Amino acid sequence: MEYCGEPLEKPFDELDPAFAVKLLSAVGRFHGCGLTHGRLRPRHVRVVDDTPILIDFQASESHICGLRMMVIPGTTIPTPEEFGCAEMHDLVCRMAVWERETLRFSTKSIRKESIWSVEDIKRFIWKGYQSGWERNRLELEAEHLYKELCKERILTWGTDKVSERTIRRDIFEIFP
Ligand SMILES: [Zn+2]
Repeated sequence: MEYCGEPLEKPFDELDPAFAVKLLSAVGRFHGCGLTHGRLRPRHVRVVDDTPILIDFQASESHICGLRMMVIPGTTIPTPEEFGCAEMHDLVCRMAVWERETLRFSTKSIRKESIWSVEDIKRFIWKGYQSGWERNRLELEAEHLYKELCKERILTWGTDKVSERTIRRDIFEIFP
């Protein structure tokens, strides 16, 4: 049997941004050939040299791709009709790339553009949580949210732009 790469062992919302872009392009090229995959799930993607290969086309159907929007992370989710392609819309939703402009943290909504370090999130932790497990939990959540925000920004701007704009050590700790 022909070698067909390694299975993709991650849900779509945990893909590294560069790989997510490659996967979107692969599906886009497939649509350009006039077909949907029909069942895009991580188990139907294999990885060869960090390149996604689609497999398992039993549910494939003919398709005229009407895609007419760029995927801009952090922006409001368009409807599938606005986006122009239902399968790509579903994939981008699964990647959790589109987001609200605000980030929900604890009971607060924080504007994304005001966040440039994890401390910008942690300062919203209620002063009453001075110590203990509740504060630990919120600090971990803040770190997770910040990491996700960095991923979105790298997907939008690329690593070079992020380093230009931020020059903050903590981003490079997340993306060495
Ligand atoms: Zn399409």
